[in-house]
Amino acid sequence: MSVAENLAIVRTQLAEACARAHRPVSDVALMAVSKMHPVESLLEAYAAGQRLFGENRVQEVQAKQPALAHLADLELHLIGPLQSNKANRAVELCQSIDTVDSLKLAQRLNTAAAALNKTLPIFLEVKLSPEESKHGLPPEELPALIDALAPLTNLVPQGLMTVPPWSTAPETARPYFRHLRQLRDESLTRCPTLTGLSIGMSNDFAVAIEEGSTCIRIGTAIFGKRTQP
Ligand SMILES: *Cc1c(COP(=O)(O)O)cnc(C)c1O
Repeated sequence: MSVAENLAIVRTQLAEACARAHRPVSDVALMAVSKMHPVESLLEAYAAGQRLFGENRVQEVQAKQPALAHLADLELHLIGPLQSNKANRAVELCQSIDTVDSLKLAQRLNTAAAALNKTLPIFLEVKLSPEESKHGLPPEELPALIDALAPLTNLVPQGLMTVPPWSTAPETARPYFRHLRQLRDESLTRCPTLTGLSIGMSNDFAVAIEEGSTCIRIGTAIFGKRTQP
C-alpha cells in the first residue's frame, strides 16, 4: 500500500477514535513519524496533504533538509533524545522540540532560540516506563522544571510527552497515558500553556485518544516497517 493510502486509513481511524471518545477531530493532531525512512516517503505524505512530521535525530533531519527546504508550511518536530551540544542545530532545523527533559537542555534551547529571534514550542518528556531504554524526566521532578522554565522566555511549553513500555497490546499503555494526563492537569496552574498531550503511536493511538491525546505520533502505520533498528 502507498503512503497516501496508509495516511487515508490512519486519518479515518483517527476520526473514528475521536467519535468514540466524543472529541472533535480537530483536537488531535496527526504527526507522521518519518524517521529511518527515505525523504521520498516524507514527500509522498506531504503530497497527500500531511504537514506535521516527527524525526528522531538531528543528523537525519540535517540530511533530509535540502529536499524539504522549499516546503515552507512543513512542520517538523524532534521526537528523539537531544544532547545539549546539538541544541543549536536542532533549533535551526526543527519547529518544535518535543523531548525536553532537563533544565540544562531547556537553557541551551532558549539561548539558541533567542539568537535566532525565535520563540520555540517545546514539549516536556516524562519517563513513566521503568525500561532503561526510555528517556525523559522523572515525574517528581516535573514541577521544579516547569517553574525553572518561566524565565526562559524564548520557549513556549506546549505540553507533555511520553513513550510507554513497548507492547503489542494497546491496553498496556492506558495507565501510562492516564498518568501523563494527570500530571498535565496538575501542571496547568504552574504553566497555563501546557495543555498538550503527545501520546499514542501506531499500536495504541486509539487508546491514547480516549485518554486525551492532542497529538498522535504515527510511523509504521503510515510508512511501513523502518529500514534500520
Ligand atoms: C518511532 C517513534 C514513533 C512512531 O512509532 P510507530 O510505532 O512506528 O508508530 C513515535 N514516537 C516516538 C518517540 C518514536 O521514536
